[in-house]
Amino acid sequence: MIVYDLQCANGHTFEGWFEDRNAYEHQGKKKLIACPICSDTSVVAVPSTFSIKAGTTSSEKESDRAADRASVEKTLEFLENNFEDVGANFAPEALKMHYDVTEKRNIRGTSTEAEEETLKNEGIKFFKLPIPRLDS
Ligand SMILES: [Zn+2]
Repeated sequence: MIVYDLQCANGHTFEGWFEDRNAYEHQGKKKLIACPICSDTSVVAVPSTFSIKAGTTSSEKESDRAADRASVEKTLEFLENNFEDVGANFAPEALKMHYDVTEKRNIRGTSTEAEEETLKNEGIKFFKLPIPRLDS
């Protein structure tokens, strides 16, 4: 059993006992939970201190986005420093390396869908990375 602090639309607070969270949600949806004071069925669970802590505030979401962006920028920087930019020649270069025509190295570049298909058929491993626009 779990207990929820509930509040009706008129601001009355009361305790509700439920088998589990699903039971609470089910009964809430079916409007089976009624305020014992005014019988209002628009009842919401009042967040406990715990759930307030667990929830994300809008400012936390902002910093999450910033962190995401920082990691994307780091990845791009790593690619720039460690992978040779072969531009549109990515597929031909990858094939050359595959057949030991050229030395194996890290390359990055762009390829068409047809070229990617060829690489796949040749069993060449590559990964695609969507490069987001980082205009601020
Ligand atoms: Zn009420």
